[in-house]
Amino acid sequence: MTKSISPKPGIDRIALYQGGASQLEGRSDVLKLSSNENPFGAPDAAKTALVASATNIHRYPPTDHASLRAAIAEVHDLDVNRIICGAGSDEIIAFLCQAYAGEGTEVIYTAHGFSMYKISALASGATPVEVPERDRTVDIDAILAGVTAKTRLIFIANPANPTGTMIDDETTRQLADALPPHVILVLDGAYAEYAEGFDGGASLIETRDNVVMTRTFSKLYGLGGLRIGWGYGPQDIIDNLNRVRGPFNLSTSQLATAEAAIRDRDWAARCLSENTKNRAWMADALAALDVPSDASSANFILARFQNEAEANACEAAFREDGILVRKVGGYKLPQCLRITVGTQADCRRVVASVRRFRETQS
Ligand SMILES: *Cc1c(COP(=O)(O)O)cnc(C)c1O
Repeated sequence: MTKSISPKPGIDRIALYQGGASQLEGRSDVLKLSSNENPFGAPDAAKTALVASATNIHRYPPTDHASLRAAIAEVHDLDVNRIICGAGSDEIIAFLCQAYAGEGTEVIYTAHGFSMYKISALASGATPVEVPERDRTVDIDAILAGVTAKTRLIFIANPANPTGTMIDDETTRQLADALPPHVILVLDGAYAEYAEGFDGGASLIETRDNVVMTRTFSKLYGLGGLRIGWGYGPQDIIDNLNRVRGPFNLSTSQLATAEAAIRDRDWAARCLSENTKNRAWMADALAALDVPSDASSANFILARFQNEAEANACEAAFREDGILVRKVGGYKLPQCLRITVGTQADCRRVVASVRRFRETQS
């Protein structure tokens, strides 16, 4: 029988997303360090707001997200009219592809780039174009070499996932300056808060008409399960993203919880300083066990092994100790494991596990 119903070109090329594992058979003490979640959970103020929002769930949510946008604008000192909120920053990425890419166009991302870029590009009908990185770091020359008349979007995470590396403001500015005017540069700032002093690209956006940033509540604010993210950019681009956005894309509960979370500045500051301290400690301790990593500006480190076999063996040893980390072969880094920075106790457990692994090897 011939198939008469088929999806748009590109859809059947989308590989289904592989999430970080969350369980191990027969264990109750699993330490999940596979999805870069906040080890301290969500702030109490956010949980209280979530519960309180139940009173109003029979009402449709506001479509303009005005209250949450005002909170974001205040905290980050941004123009409230140029903020758009979505169901995770993943939805903002999807809006960008829906509004600006499509059949006959190209979307660029880098060799170890976040998997959603390719998924959203293909979903829009565009051709995904992958360009190389240099030493697990975004290489703007390789990106520029990949730009053609068909390019519409370039996605870079800064800091990047799963590498944890960053390009500095000057390099980002050079890239934005060198792009032809028909190309939008998207700076994915899912981990921007963890890079101290970094604005995610906000100041660059103020002086350009082709740079957009995406941000999330899933990492520092501990709300990955609730799905809230946002984007910031030039007014005309944000207006177009709002045209493809469903009017009720965020629920009353999402809006209220995110607003309470971002207004708790003490919580954010505490989580940030714990992350900075524990990240340095874990990276140093692993390096002393012959597991180096690039300097990370995020809430995880990319542990590097001799080769794929050693990385897989260590991952198996982690499992035996009830620890889940992320294999990143799918990101062309089979010799690496991505490990979320947990609490101090979590980090000690990781290091103890690697020490045992090294002992079994010798
Ligand atoms: C975690 C992550 C996101 C966040 O996605 P949400 O949809 O906001 O949960 C975005 N980009 C990168 C690179 C990430 O690692």
